[in-house]
Amino acid sequence: MEYRIALLKGDGIGPEIVDSAVRILEKTGARYGHRFIFTPYMIGGAAIDETGEPLPEETVKGCLASDSVLLGAVGGPKWDDMPGDRRPEKALLGIRYALGLYANLRPAKMFPALKGASPLREDIISAGFDIMIVRELTGGIYFGDRGYRQGKFGEEAYDTEAYSVREIERIGRAAFDIAMKRDRRVTSIDKANVLETSRLWRKTMHSLAGEYPEVTYSDMLVDNTAMQLVRNPKQFDVIVTSNMFGDILSDEASQITGSIGMLASASLGDSTLGMYEPIHGSAPDIAGTGKANPIATILSAAMMLRYSFGLSEEADRIENAVDSVLNEGARTADILGSASEKPLSCAEMTERIADKI
Ligand code: NAD
Repeated sequence: MEYRIALLKGDGIGPEIVDSAVRILEKTGARYGHRFIFTPYMIGGAAIDETGEPLPEETVKGCLASDSVLLGAVGGPKWDDMPGDRRPEKALLGIRYALGLYANLRPAKMFPALKGASPLREDIISAGFDIMIVRELTGGIYFGDRGYRQGKFGEEAYDTEAYSVREIERIGRAAFDIAMKRDRRVTSIDKANVLETSRLWRKTMHSLAGEYPEVTYSDMLVDNTAMQLVRNPKQFDVIVTSNMFGDILSDEASQITGSIGMLASASLGDSTLGMYEPIHGSAPDIAGTGKANPIATILSAAMMLRYSFGLSEEADRIENAVDSVLNEGARTADILGSASEKPLSCAEMTERIADKI
């Protein structure tokens, strides 16, 4: 099979880590008889320097004409003083909107070899955990009516949250479909004891749950979830939640893994065209030094194979290759801990993983 992949390398360590993922995809393609056709497009600061725009029209068109998109990261001190709508980060919202991506998937997985990096107690993490947070990305309070007005105590500001049944159903369906490919458990997070949107959310999720009898479904309040994530993360498989709750909980979940350079993400819409990217930024402090950890981007590429192309065996192969080199003690500087090996460069880590494909 042939797959067209748009590459948005971006800024800082973006080009290095995307090149690493391309190397792993090429190795995987060669092994399984797939052809990946890569086309680079400009985004972020690099695009501003070249065209004056963080998200040139040609980039949007190129992504729309591809089967999937792999993004490095955008931003850096060089562009920090640009006005808000011209900053590199603005391109991220723009491209997600243009591609109609409304579901954000963030796995938070404990790599057994990296237990020492987690801030959680040994007895909590010894059981391991593997959570997929499915966050609604284009609705809720971040997109609702907002403004200033005169209130009882003078000037006040307000933001409003609205969710339609349709928006809840489509993110719910995404979560249930993903759970079917995992451990078949979904926990829906809301604040139904207080918020009307949460009560509609819960009611809609309950009727969806009826369509997925193989999936074990439960509700949890967001405040309790914040506690449960650090008390017993293993209880979760797929978490589905609104834009704001997902924003907060996915950051909490990434921190308990203790390794930001390891975490992948995906943004999906109604078609198979998705955007895949590491959760970390452009790390300008280490750009060009060869110290970047490529694993988050390599695992993002594995998610692309699984969720956009339906190539689960190939995705497993990449994920197992990463597990395997970590178990052998291979480390980049950011995850060195007390490992005895000397830290590998981005390119060396990539080759260690490529050797296992
Ligand atoms: P960051 O994630 O870039 O870096 C935080 C720290 O983690 C730094 O010390 C960095 O060296 C380290 N780090 C991050 N990724 C790493 C990797 N793969 N390997 C080794 N170490 C890694 O966050 P920041 O410093 O707050 O932001 C830097 C720039 O990135 C800013 O311009 C910010 O706006 C942008 N940013 C972009 C995205 C994105 O493109 N999706 C996300 C977050 C931040």
